Amino acid sequence: MTEIRNYIGNQWAEAISAHQVDVYNPASGEVIATVASSGDKDVARAVDVGTTAFREWRETPVTDRIQYLFKLKMLLEEHLEEIAKIITTECGKTLAESRGELRRGIENVEVACGMPTLMQGYSNEDIASGIDEHMIRQPLGVVAAITPFNFPGMIPLWFLPYAVATGNCFILKPSERVPMTTAKLFCLIEQAGFPAGVVQLVNGGHETVNALLDHPGVRAISFVGSTAVAKLVYQRATANGKRAQCQGGAKNPVIVMPDADIETTTRIMADSAFGCAGQRCLAASVAVTVGDAQRSFAESIAEAASSRPVGYGLDDGVAMGPVITPESRGRIESIIDQGEKEGVQLLVDGRGGAVSGYPGGNWVFPTVLDKVTPQSSVASTEIFGPVLSLMHAASLDEAIRLVNDRAYGNMACLFTSSGAAARKFRYEADAGNVGINIGVAAPMAFFPFSGWNESFFGDLHAQGRHGVEFYTQTKVVVERWPREWSRTF
Ligand code: NAD
Repeated sequence: MTEIRNYIGNQWAEAISAHQVDVYNPASGEVIATVASSGDKDVARAVDVGTTAFREWRETPVTDRIQYLFKLKMLLEEHLEEIAKIITTECGKTLAESRGELRRGIENVEVACGMPTLMQGYSNEDIASGIDEHMIRQPLGVVAAITPFNFPGMIPLWFLPYAVATGNCFILKPSERVPMTTAKLFCLIEQAGFPAGVVQLVNGGHETVNALLDHPGVRAISFVGSTAVAKLVYQRATANGKRAQCQGGAKNPVIVMPDADIETTTRIMADSAFGCAGQRCLAASVAVTVGDAQRSFAESIAEAASSRPVGYGLDDGVAMGPVITPESRGRIESIIDQGEKEGVQLLVDGRGGAVSGYPGGNWVFPTVLDKVTPQSSVASTEIFGPVLSLMHAASLDEAIRLVNDRAYGNMACLFTSSGAAARKFRYEADAGNVGINIGVAAPMAFFPFSGWNESFFGDLHAQGRHGVEFYTQTKVVVERWPREWSRTF
């Protein structure tokens, strides 16, 4: 049995609190590891070590700081297959999905290797006679990130590379449900040779989060998780005077126009709605068909849902794994039950599915609900499972009104062959990540991950230039050096 420890000051350390949490394989239900549940004292130790390390790390030239990231990038490439298997084992997604998420994580390491350019300031000479003005970026100090279960290989890398390349010391608190991937990532961080205290790992649940939020030595908090927790974390972090960027949950609508190619749209939409068992914050969860697309899309997506091979992600030919816990399965099934009571029509019912050889798995099969109205709870609740709801609109205008009539704003997509429809949608959609003929509009590492509304609390998002700005404070220097003072030389 693997015992996952903290990584503090370049030492693998047991948490001071003896409390341990079990980690499960969601496909088999077996306990595969235990993880420390850290408390105030563990967090205080990490912050103290990070504060001491910060003095030298911020003075380390940025060109030297990024050398550790180049090493980390090479180590991640070498160990990609091994890490992907760990992701599948503890998170449930297929091996191809695990490889894909790690690739997106590595891209962030690559982008942060450009930090000598990315963190440059700007200057003006002679803002008045003999006076120059410069803006420089300086790191904040000790910063922390709190991450969710669904992308254990990628989401920590939305933050870690930018934080350390800009000169901060970074503490990660991963999801207690998937700590094995992070433990492996930290083995590679150890091999990359970062100085002690620059990158640290503190495992645990909400008590660990609260300790990070309340510690005065933590200057900034990055969070990714559900909206309810994102709100709490944002409020507590900012009330304690910290910078915060908190990414929350989602309910992503997709419009299918009558001029869309139904075969391609179905293939892309099935992957968006059922890939990663619907446990992506950019999963399509409501499809709004316009005009004649209603019948053709309903038929083809129902066929794609019912024929998707479900099973253990390490087995060949599997296109969808289990959901993360038995509680998640129960919650998803009860939301479908509620939809049924409210009158939605079950085109494909994924409740009660079983996979041969894995009786202990958290199986929910792809589900398609039709005749969903804006009032029904399945239309607005984040289900976070492989469930696609179908709605219908008579026109693009009506469909856009349905898309914009929701609390979240993580992603909205449109499938069409009309440039005019695409432009109108791009212009009017009330979401921060927009896709045109794309099912998962995930920004590349050099663009911000731009959730809006109840999907994001803060100002600067994760990734790219936003990451650089979040982890640095700007200092403006105004200098007077009149020409006549140089006459003495
Ligand atoms: P979660 O909110 O349960 O947990 C996220 C993190 O917060 C974990 O590290 C957890 O330990 C901690 N936490 C949980 N409850 C807490 C509490 N009461 N106080 C303080 N900390 C707490 O989320 P999850 O189930 O791990 O992940 C799924 C959610 O994350 C979904 O809602 C999904 O949409 C969202 N998500 C959003 C994005 C995005 O970019 N917007 C990306 C991935 C996932």
